[in-house]
Amino acid sequence: MEIVIEDLNVIYHPGTPFAKQALTDINLRVASGSFVALLGATGSGKSTLIQTVAGLIKPTSGQLRIGNQVVTPKSKQLSELRRLVGVAFQYPEHQLFEETVAKDIAFGPRQQGLTEEQVAERVEEAMRWVGLPPSLKDRSPLALSGGQMRRVAIAGILAMRPQVLILDEPTAGLDPRGQREMLDMVGRLHREQGLTVLLVTHQMEEAARYAEQLVILSEGRIALTGSPREVFGNEQALSRLKLDVPEITKLIMALNRNLDPPLPLTLFSVEE
Ligand code: ADP
Repeated sequence: MEIVIEDLNVIYHPGTPFAKQALTDINLRVASGSFVALLGATGSGKSTLIQTVAGLIKPTSGQLRIGNQVVTPKSKQLSELRRLVGVAFQYPEHQLFEETVAKDIAFGPRQQGLTEEQVAERVEEAMRWVGLPPSLKDRSPLALSGGQMRRVAIAGILAMRPQVLILDEPTAGLDPRGQREMLDMVGRLHREQGLTVLLVTHQMEEAARYAEQLVILSEGRIALTGSPREVFGNEQALSRLKLDVPEITKLIMALNRNLDPPLPLTLFSVEE
């Protein structure tokens, strides 16, 4: 499902001494079914942006459209939008609470007025999508590995059949193998289910490897957006991001493993 954001501003506690502009003049178009990585330093606005897209925060000005759902500062009902967008916040496994994997995954679809049979189908399907064997269905989620618990949490979101999936640092705290498996799983979901994926990550390498579009936020604004090739090929814009030279070199090397033909490995002059 396409996401279109126009002139979006988000201010926390507007009109008070604590007013804080978290997003400024965001314009962004995410094509239906694309895989977007959202990057930026802590405090750059990533979390505010995903919460806005998920219908958890209303814009202070501007608007957001997902499919045919439009959200403006005046919007009252955001429940339709929330139905379209599934969000896995950081460490989503901390939210698991049912006695069994199947019950936990069933929690969301059960709120959607489905029959027990339909709910069971959704659970089975979501477990398959995240690569959990059916034999784990009646196990306690707490008895699983960290990576499996996280899959259960993501399966619970997928079982509600969102059109857009937002993942906030889905590899945080996993070992390298778990990280790889998690990202491969997300890539597969994107390819096979046609989900529009928004992945928040600190790791440029992750972003470059999996995403079709990168969005780099800096101080609440979009500093740079485009395909990995466009972003990393834009020497001037990258140098404005104040990354250090070893970091950029590392990025380009990482990116070049996935780009054909590779980008030239020049060293950037970085402004202080
Ligand atoms: P990120 O996810 O990139 O770390 P955030 O969206 O959390 O960035 O934060 C963007 C800016 O908004 C930061 O300056 C942060 O301090 C501020 N901010 C975030 N949440 C709130 C809040 N609830 N009230 C006031 N300011 C906030």
